[in-house]
Amino acid sequence: MRVAVIKLTSCSGCINEIVKVVALDPKLLDIYEFVYFNEITDSVENVSKYDIVFVEGSITTKEQEDMVKMFRGLTDFMVAIGACAIHGGVQALRVGENIEAVKAYVYPDPKLIEVESDVKPVAYATKIDFYIPGCPVRGDAVKSLLEKFARGGLPTPILESVCGECKRRGIQCLVVSHGISCLGPITISGCGAICPSFRRGCYGCYGLRGFDETLTNVGNYIGLLGRLGLGKEIVDYLLRAFSFKEFSKLIKAFEK
Ligand code: SF4
Ligand code: SF4
Ligand code: SF4
Repeated sequence: MRVAVIKLTSCSGCINEIVKVVALDPKLLDIYEFVYFNEITDSVENVSKYDIVFVEGSITTKEQEDMVKMFRGLTDFMVAIGACAIHGGVQALRVGENIEAVKAYVYPDPKLIEVESDVKPVAYATKIDFYIPGCPVRGDAVKSLLEKFARGGLPTPILESVCGECKRRGIQCLVVSHGISCLGPITISGCGAICPSFRRGCYGCYGLRGFDETLTNVGNYIGLLGRLGLGKEIVDYLLRAFSFKEFSKLIKAFEK
């Protein structure tokens, strides 16, 4: 089967997980041929049809939007990997800021940088068939998708919060038992509750559980976190950083 991996605005952390999966299990290469993968191949093939297209990163230029749409036309199965592709990613923190000032803050010669102030998750530009959350995604989630897709199936979508993973692992709740702030109850699971297992509160890197959260629920929980010492400003910052799309949707729904 033919696979393309395309990168938009992102850090390559998720793509590196794909590389790791294939490096640790080369038998996957008997099934999958990574024919378009600029990060690991010297030559760029002429684009053609693909069985799977993985997309990492959010859309921050017109060219990237055109590229996503073009690849959409070349596959029946497009997968968004990571918080950048699904929600916007940490670069969404700049939305609403003066883009020229942001560029000048980062680059010595900002005139050379052509980028829009807006940051779009890939689903804003085209249809996405499957999402793998994370920042970065977990390699085993990528592997599970590749193995099941090869057999004509798909992994079961995740519909619970990080708290479910704490319960299964027998991790004592940091909020209840230790008064430590944690975004786990409003964050989509899949990481194995890594942070709570090291007695650190979840900071929401897998993204807000937008599919069944309301602004009232989230607001109430932010109020509780405030009483534990995690100020609303910091929670807003984290939600914008990892959950820009879902957080914005909740706010827009509230404003209607
Ligand atoms: S989701 Fe995180 S790890 Fe993946 S590309 Fe974006 S910033 Fe990097
Ligand atoms: S530690 Fe956090 S993620 Fe774990 S059960 Fe408590 S609130 Fe939920
Ligand atoms: S516990 Fe939260 S912050 Fe830590 S890896 Fe999981 S989702 Fe990300």
